Amino acid sequence: MVDAARLKWSWGEVAAHGDQVPLFFYSTLFLEHPEVREMFPVSMAAQRDRLVTALGRVVSDVDNVDALVPFLQQLGRDHRKFAVVADHYPAVGAALLHTLEHFLGAHWTPELEKDWTAAYGIVAEVMSGAAEDSARQTPSWWDAEVVSHDRRAIDLAVIRVVPDQRLDYLPGQSIAVESPYRPRMWRQYSPANAPRPDGTIDFHVRLADAGQVSPALVEFTRPGDRLRLAAPMGTGLVLPDGPPRHVLMLAGGTGLAPLKALTEQIASFQDGRRVYLYWGVRHAGDLYDLPALREFAERSEWFHVVPVVAAGPGPHTGQAVGVALRQARWLDCDVFVCGPPGMVSQSVAALGHAGIPEGQIHWESGVSGLPAEEALS
Ligand SMILES: Cc1cc2nc3c(=O)[nH]c(=O)nc-3n(C[C@H](O)[C@H](O)[C@H](O)COP(=O)(O)OP(=O)(O)OC[C@H]3O[C@@H](n4cnc5c(N)ncnc54)[C@H](O)[C@@H]3O)c2cc1C
Repeated sequence: MVDAARLKWSWGEVAAHGDQVPLFFYSTLFLEHPEVREMFPVSMAAQRDRLVTALGRVVSDVDNVDALVPFLQQLGRDHRKFAVVADHYPAVGAALLHTLEHFLGAHWTPELEKDWTAAYGIVAEVMSGAAEDSARQTPSWWDAEVVSHDRRAIDLAVIRVVPDQRLDYLPGQSIAVESPYRPRMWRQYSPANAPRPDGTIDFHVRLADAGQVSPALVEFTRPGDRLRLAAPMGTGLVLPDGPPRHVLMLAGGTGLAPLKALTEQIASFQDGRRVYLYWGVRHAGDLYDLPALREFAERSEWFHVVPVVAAGPGPHTGQAVGVALRQARWLDCDVFVCGPPGMVSQSVAALGHAGIPEGQIHWESGVSGLPAEEALS
């Protein structure tokens, strides 16, 4: 039996040492097991934050199994793309115990060692079990070829890929992508189309200033290049079951991508739903997909697109949520919101304030932010 309070206290003591903790952990791991070094990116800076974040999450939910187990299962499935296998877990566990012992000094007691050994045993068992289950159904990753690379703006490309094997996903989900120009650095991108018979997938990639992966995808990637894609993730923007409601969509920047995929899915239903897409960008030059959206709206009387430019000019200026709420009440609609974290949180708050029931508001955050991926090892 793990003493949750003791575990949390000890982690608090260790985490107070900040960056020293992951630095010590990875040095220990690589010294004892040099063979695992090549599973990690050349630069370990972002990796260190992820280890601490993931461990913090495990410890804070250690007495909340309902929350912890799905988190660990997802983490286990997700680590397949790093080629993690069951044999790696004991090495990570030993490095973790060594790290805890180092930072806790005289506080590292036999009882604490027992608690941490048991807790890590559960983490390893749940993660590797989920990984094994998913290995029976899907590959660890999909190799894919870039078939086109359309540089729509200095900082934006629409990249079409075709995986060697069929990759099924739900519109609204995202897929982690690895570029050969940035090995072992996986970042999430959202398919901008519903699954097609030919298996091709479009990604809308915005170049993040001083980012690692997005510049490689926008600036260096060419048709014929090979990318790796991981299993699709996320449920926040998936179309809910239940009676079809009209749909309001609020997109910020490349948050357009999953909402475009959802629109294609709704088009295939032909169930009378109407879709109103408000697409917010900073400058008019950022409306990289507007001609295609307008052309689609002309052909589909149930679909409406309203471009909203933060700083003008144009008929609609300000924030997408503000413009949408000035035009209608949307109380009976499903609302989908996707974009940078600030845009999503402000929009969700404003929609709640306007009386739209929480269960009708669907959102996914992080599209222009730091990667959400959490790697434990
Ligand atoms: C579910 C989901 C879906 C997404 N879908 C899309 C999509 O469809 N299209 C899209 O373009 N993006 C999408 N993203 C965002 C994408 O995953 C990447 O985060 C984005 O492309 C930036 O990656 P990068 O490697 O270029 O930048 P990173 O190297 O990860 O850096 C991100 C930003 O943080 C800054 N930064 C990095 N490290 C530090 C540090 N130590 N201190 C301070 N600042 C730092 C960088 O300067 C940069 O601006 C999505 C994200 C999520 C979570």
